[in-house]
Amino acid sequence: MSAVLPERIAQARELQGLTKTEIATALGVSPAAVAQWESGVKSPTAENLALLAREVGFPIAAFQRVQPVGFSQPGPLSFRARSNATTRRANVRAEQLAKLVAESYVWLSERVALPLPNLPDVGAPGVSPEEAAQACRRAWNLGDRPILKLGELLESQGIIIARARLGNEKLDAFSCLVSSRPFVFLGSDKQDRARSRFDAAHELAHLILHQHYAERHLSDSEDHKELEQQANAFASAFLMPATTFGQEVFDTTLNGFLRLKERWGVSAQAMVVRSFQLQLIDEYRRTELFRQMSAKGWRKARGEPLDDLIPEVNSSVGKRSIELLTQGGVIHLWEIPNEIPFPNEVLHVAFNITPESLYDAVAPNVVLFPKA
Ligand SMILES: [Zn+2]
Repeated sequence: MSAVLPERIAQARELQGLTKTEIATALGVSPAAVAQWESGVKSPTAENLALLAREVGFPIAAFQRVQPVGFSQPGPLSFRARSNATTRRANVRAEQLAKLVAESYVWLSERVALPLPNLPDVGAPGVSPEEAAQACRRAWNLGDRPILKLGELLESQGIIIARARLGNEKLDAFSCLVSSRPFVFLGSDKQDRARSRFDAAHELAHLILHQHYAERHLSDSEDHKELEQQANAFASAFLMPATTFGQEVFDTTLNGFLRLKERWGVSAQAMVVRSFQLQLIDEYRRTELFRQMSAKGWRKARGEPLDDLIPEVNSSVGKRSIELLTQGGVIHLWEIPNEIPFPNEVLHVAFNITPESLYDAVAPNVVLFPKA
């Protein structure tokens, strides 16, 4: 049997959001034993490894899989909040998911020519988020019109978009650079489309403006708050350029904003904030509009009307690449779990491969026993 890698044990545990003590209890071993496995002092017995694999849903082959050469840690990850223990656990889980998805893309990029990352260098010190958003649009030849196919746009610039159940209400999206490839993870739970689009643009801001920041800047709460404000300002300016969006705001009632919602693909709330920032409405008007939106329940998740008119943030690079490989006969779908022996969740988030699709894709000359 190949050696079990200690870092994979920690990774499998953290992906499930479990503590060493919780794993130890589930397996009937001491927490110290789990700590020794993770530090490499001792290896688990074959029996304990099998139990562990089942407990964390990590195939045994994954514990033995060496990380690709030159695979660099993601970092720094941009998180919305990192205050309490539950949030920290969700963040650690998200980080491990990101690493495994990124590792799956290293495998993919050795077989398919993925779009090359093209993050414009527009985040020099002293440049405002407004200017950076404008410069980003120029660098990508976008003009100032609304961007409705946001997912397709980001993918064409080499940014991988993945949807994942992030499982924490404070964490609805995050981004990271792994081995120089940018990734944006969007939450798949309880989100409306307008929010998802804003999140994607917010994460784009982090990738462009904050990729050189050290982890400590992101842990300091004052700095973190400032970076969040910058990312929101960038997202707002990127989705609603002053020159074009600004000219279309003349009816500053809620109905007036709702009429612009489908065209711009942003929430009325985001339009109100942007209009205030562009001095199209005064503070009194903004407060009044927010009061009205609260009274109508628009500020709750999925509370605002007309969200279904907005396009989703689509991602298709991973899925299409796998189709290309399987249709071209380079690999069979059912061989992929051997090539990338990661949990089902990882293959689903990365490439939209479900266990059912693998079941359907068994080789035609294989006869399945009927299910009991
Ligand atoms: Zn952020």
